[in-house]
Amino acid sequence: MRILVADDEAGIRAAYRICLQETGSDAASELDRYGAALFGDPDAGDAPMAEVPRWSEVDYVGQGEEAVAAVRSAVAEGRPYGVLFLDMRMPPGMDGRETAKQVRALDPDINIVIVTGFSDHSPLEVARVAGPLDKLYYLAKPFETEEIRTLAGALTAKWSMVTELQRTQAALAQKVDELETAQAQILASEARSRHIALHDQLTRLPNRLSFQEFLSEALNDKRCDVAVLFLDLDRFKLVNDTLGHGAGDELVCRMTDRLARSLSEGSLIARLGGDEFGVILKGDDAQNALGLANQMVVLAAEPFDILGTKVQVSASIGIANRGTAQITGSELLRRADLALYAAKGSGRNCARLFEPAFDDSARQRAEIDSKLRAAIENDQLKLVYQPIIDPMNGLPVGYEALVRWTDPEMGIVPPSIFVPIAEETGLIALLGEWVTRNAIAECANWPEGVVSINLSTRQFQSIALIDQICDEAARYQLPLGRIQLEITETALFDDAALAAEILIEMRKRGIRIALDDFGTGYSSLVNLKDFEIDCIKIDQSFVATLGADRQASAIVTAVTGLARSLGLKVVAEGVESEIQVQALRLVGCDLMQGYFYSKPISSGELQDIHDASARAAAAA
Ligand code: C2E
Ligand code: CA
Ligand code: CA
Repeated sequence: MRILVADDEAGIRAAYRICLQETGSDAASELDRYGAALFGDPDAGDAPMAEVPRWSEVDYVGQGEEAVAAVRSAVAEGRPYGVLFLDMRMPPGMDGRETAKQVRALDPDINIVIVTGFSDHSPLEVARVAGPLDKLYYLAKPFETEEIRTLAGALTAKWSMVTELQRTQAALAQKVDELETAQAQILASEARSRHIALHDQLTRLPNRLSFQEFLSEALNDKRCDVAVLFLDLDRFKLVNDTLGHGAGDELVCRMTDRLARSLSEGSLIARLGGDEFGVILKGDDAQNALGLANQMVVLAAEPFDILGTKVQVSASIGIANRGTAQITGSELLRRADLALYAAKGSGRNCARLFEPAFDDSARQRAEIDSKLRAAIENDQLKLVYQPIIDPMNGLPVGYEALVRWTDPEMGIVPPSIFVPIAEETGLIALLGEWVTRNAIAECANWPEGVVSINLSTRQFQSIALIDQICDEAARYQLPLGRIQLEITETALFDDAALAAEILIEMRKRGIRIALDDFGTGYSSLVNLKDFEIDCIKIDQSFVATLGADRQASAIVTAVTGLARSLGLKVVAEGVESEIQVQALRLVGCDLMQGYFYSKPISSGELQDIHDASARAAAAA
């Protein structure tokens, strides 16, 4: 703690020197004596000394100019004085008032004690130039030792508290500053992450989450109608697969712009998934919403120029509105979803409003799904087998496994009904596993022949399928060469690279592959050579129109010719008559399957027939 004393009289400076020496030293009592001599205080020698702190440094000057210079360098060095004891009259230099003024200008925190025997300057006048008042003190000469000591003690203590306080305040202000900056950053990144959380990155449209938020807000306003549109692009996957994902993304963005422009203010369009969009209309009734949806269908069908290629897709839209029913948001979404399903079911490229009848078919689907699950778990399904015949000798080379389900309440449910539902709900995985396991187990009991198992597209999506089949075959000791899998063209072209990989692996293990329902899909004959397959099954619709429809005959002829040139077998499905057999043999079809030869039969019947023909052969 530093103190500065400015007094022109050497004797007084000496008195200060003694006052400001360490507590309890001999100097203190000497001081008392000196003080008594100087100021004539008779009690000075007996007065008890106040406890005051040590001053680390006290400087003495004799003139105002020197005092100013000392304060200046103390401030410059960063070691300012806490207290200045300042004589009022210091001839020949500046007086105490001027000195105080200049000192104050240099150091706003120093405590100045004006020590004066004269009242030549009023305290107010000094305060005006060297204030503030709380840093300005007066001490009348002659002073007591005790007065100097206590004042010095009190003021240095106060000074250090004030400077400490200032330091703390400065540090605090800096901390506040830092916190404010940090808070601003957090707010900015919060706003950013909220934007990210609520928007789709590709199109910048609101996403599913904001769609739901917007919907519940819209529904809060009970006075106006709210309509929800679900829009799904048709054949979008084809664009992705044939032109690449870059083109698919570009298409989605361009479609977004188009659709967004058709909407009025106050409505919302969101991207809900890959090629799915959701629209919320406020204040529109069902007919308005349908009108707008029809416009969107037209807009979506206009071709785009994507990376130099003309691309055309279409949209299916399902619509539901709240109307006067005051239904909940989730019910509204469910209805829009059903309406979309209906739009797709009625040929796509159209918009459909929800109708109560949609509920019935949805209920039926849900019922079939849950009953089928139970039937699989309780082993209540059956397999029947339809022979695949070599027309040269009329003998079967294999049998196609076909699943059968009779429900106690619904009766016989044909696979053409429940297989598509199982594919939709994902139950197909369980169903497929059941079919594969049972078909392999039953085939292992037959003396010979291939079992041909239908695989759905959804099953044909992982290499794990091969392991499952191989494990089952090993369990029943069935050679893999006696297993044939029937897959459709969609299974191949959904993910062509993966399909090729799975096929190669299957063929490596000796499993045969048949391409089912050939001619109904969109694959071209030329693509076939890229895949490892053994046989093609010509769809029964071509066989049925053979002879009547020239185009069908031409297709059968072409397919058979090409398949043979690629070394593939050809099976004709749905053969019902002798005439068909003759025609098919003429174009070179190797194998036949259909009611003409046999309906699907049980595994037991199959064995009986085999045994009977073996006995007949032995007898002959
Ligand atoms: P698909 O694979 O084309 O099976 C042939 C369908 O034609 C079978 O109908 C069969 O009973 C029927 N059929 C056989 N011969 C004739 C005939 O001469 N004339 C006519 N009009 N029809 C004939 P099903 O059993 O009703 O099966 C329908 C479809 O269900 C099958 O078509 C197949 O796609 C699917 N499916 C059947 N079982 C399974 C299975 O276990 N798994 C999978 N994923 N799908 C199956
Ligand atoms: Ca089949
Ligand atoms: Ca078929």
